[in-house]
Amino acid sequence: MERINVAVRARPLSPEDAKTSPWRISGNSIVFANPSNKFDFDRIFREDCKTAEVYESRTKAIVSAAIGGFNGTVFAYGQTNSGKTHTMRGSSVEPGVIPLAVHDLFDMIQQEIDREFLLRMSYMEIYNEEINDLLAPEHRKLQIHESIERGIFVAGLKEEIVSSPEQVLKFMEFGEAHRHIGETNMNLHSSRSHTIFRMIIESRDKVEDEYAENSCDAVRVSVLNLVDLAGSERAAKTGAEGVRLKEGSHINKSLMTLGTVIKKLSEGAESQGGHVPYRDSKLTRILQPALGGNANTAIICNITLAQIHADETKSSLMFASRAL
Ligand code: ADP
Ligand code: MG
Repeated sequence: MERINVAVRARPLSPEDAKTSPWRISGNSIVFANPSNKFDFDRIFREDCKTAEVYESRTKAIVSAAIGGFNGTVFAYGQTNSGKTHTMRGSSVEPGVIPLAVHDLFDMIQQEIDREFLLRMSYMEIYNEEINDLLAPEHRKLQIHESIERGIFVAGLKEEIVSSPEQVLKFMEFGEAHRHIGETNMNLHSSRSHTIFRMIIESRDKVEDEYAENSCDAVRVSVLNLVDLAGSERAAKTGAEGVRLKEGSHINKSLMTLGTVIKKLSEGAESQGGHVPYRDSKLTRILQPALGGNANTAIICNITLAQIHADETKSSLMFASRAL
């Protein structure tokens, strides 16, 4: 499996927008008509593709590797309204990558008859470079720490032990319901925050003899992060001022850092001892253990092919092609 994989998903258009779209998809390339500009990716999902297909193509392999002990991270990137949350969380109409992954995870560990598993989950958001715990709404402005035993971790972040997909999804619903924001600000808030859903997968060999020596050595821990990123649209374009501008510049900085980190990793900087700027944003710092090393990463770049969003779509495609 390639370590970093980048796919593009185009959201459905109204018939009117479809008629005037300046874009054409051809295989794994996406082409802008005039001036001609072509972008190539590992995979392009057209407007009529279902999330299940997006999930199967790459995320499933990352989930399965996570069970085998390899960390993994899947990102949904794109401007507000491009379909990030539809892709990751889904709706009553179509389950997203998160519920699909969670169901698969529980199914897959059932097949591992020689190992026993302990699954935990956490759910957090980064808003204005502040980390808030969505499973414990009173835990706000959490700090990132590093220790020999735990590596990099968010201090005080709640981890719930979970034993069924239904339980995981209940906790997620709780997290969504308890965000410190009014209903009316919900869309605005979610477009300005990064949401990290995390499963922590711990397993060890089943030993016949409970007192067998070395049984502790066989413990394996890995994490799977499923990330719904803040909207990638530029703050300046929406005429932002004050608080909005500050939010915008934090978002730009963390997305830019993410782009640089992924680019460095795809160039092999880490294995060559080069500098990877994880510390330049909370997002990349938190995800560091599941981006570098042996971790598997997928970016789903959500776009719209409507004429009016052409500039934003180009900048999303440029971000995504840098990662290749
Ligand atoms: P984002 O999270 O990027 O801001 P959303 O996922 O909330 O965008 O999508 C915006 C709207 O478009 C939602 O109403 C969503 O249901 C719809 N939508 C997005 N992608 C799709 C898709 N592939 N199929 C059907 N509806 C979609
Ligand atoms: Mg969203």
